[in-house]
Amino acid sequence: MSQFSPENIRADFPILEHIIYLDSAATSLSPRQVIEAQSDAEYHYRANVGRGIHRLGRMATHKFEESRETIKKFFGGENGILAFTRNTTEGLNIIANGLDWKKTDRVIVPLQEHHSNLLPWFRLAESKRIAGVDIVDKTDGFVKPEDIEALITKDTRMVAVGHASNVFGTIAPVKEIAEICREHEILFSIDGAQTAPHLPINLKEIGCDYFSFSGHKMLGPMGIGGLWIKEGSPLPTPEYAGGGMVSTVTGQKFTTVGNAQQYEAGTPNVIGAIGLAEAVRYLSKLGMENVAAHSENLANRMVKSLSEISGVNVTTPSNGRAHLTGAVSFTVDGVHPHEVAYFLDEAAAIMVRSGEHCCQPLMKKIAKSGGGTVRASAYCYNTEDDIDMLAATVEEIAGMVK
Ligand code: PMP
Repeated sequence: MSQFSPENIRADFPILEHIIYLDSAATSLSPRQVIEAQSDAEYHYRANVGRGIHRLGRMATHKFEESRETIKKFFGGENGILAFTRNTTEGLNIIANGLDWKKTDRVIVPLQEHHSNLLPWFRLAESKRIAGVDIVDKTDGFVKPEDIEALITKDTRMVAVGHASNVFGTIAPVKEIAEICREHEILFSIDGAQTAPHLPINLKEIGCDYFSFSGHKMLGPMGIGGLWIKEGSPLPTPEYAGGGMVSTVTGQKFTTVGNAQQYEAGTPNVIGAIGLAEAVRYLSKLGMENVAAHSENLANRMVKSLSEISGVNVTTPSNGRAHLTGAVSFTVDGVHPHEVAYFLDEAAAIMVRSGEHCCQPLMKKIAKSGGGTVRASAYCYNTEDDIDMLAATVEEIAGMVK
């Protein structure tokens, strides 16, 4: 596909004939090509990987490992290993649970993070494996390198940042943060759940130690994601032991394979990995620069048109002050976010997310009336018409309570 055209893209997502899907920050749709790659694998080479010698096993192993390489390359991560996980949450937990912490260690995280990038660190502190978590207590959607640097002490061992906020859609300056971490010899983990679908990502250039992402948000299947670890960065001890991750077993002792497979004990999601690699090929054909520009254009259109509606409060920063991934949060005076979401669906078949977005610490501060926010999130298959229909229907809802 040489030209980026949402109209052409939409043909690969038949459900879009019936609905306006603006909930991709939660879970994206999956194109025909991804679904077909999975069913092709199911029909023709369903087998376990790295174990059997017969032809189906060899074919499945080849496709699985080829998928790993395709995905690694997509993220510019040739200088590291890529372990398949179920999702971003698993990646972050592998890091938090598996690193060799000292009791005096501290971790820095922004308050606006998703629970998946808060609770694993909170639990470390609660169980006294580390001394504590230091929180960048800002609620404007911006993660500023200087705010992180201000919290660094001699005990800081890790900075863990979401590459983009799933509430605001704002993008964090991870390259600058990585530089600060390098200067202070601190580990840097990125939660890439919200940027892997939207931005061209080059892990080598960013220079982080760990990057976690989910397939289901980037046109891929559910139940498959990845954890990338830079070559030379500390390898977490795998949480699970068993088949596939072991090198030798002698008596009651074992050694693990030193590579990505050590995090994939048991039978992995082979079909999911193949589907995710197809999603990555699909996105590469669209061109991630095009995807990023399109998502941001639609997000800016949403911010602008929703801000003009009386009774609507847009929580995503406006006026081009921020680069956005496609997600925009807002509230409507006098209407609970769930009611807004329900009405959008019933009245215009528009799917959005409502609630606390797995960000309770942030929501307690920015959504004081309770109930969180409404979040509409656009992706490569949305059009400006989708956004205009959203704005028109939100205007109707806001008008009803006057
Ligand atoms: N981090 C962020 C920023 C997210 O948006 C999400 C999903 N909403 C997650 C982590 C968790 O992703 P998953 O449920 O796929 O593990």
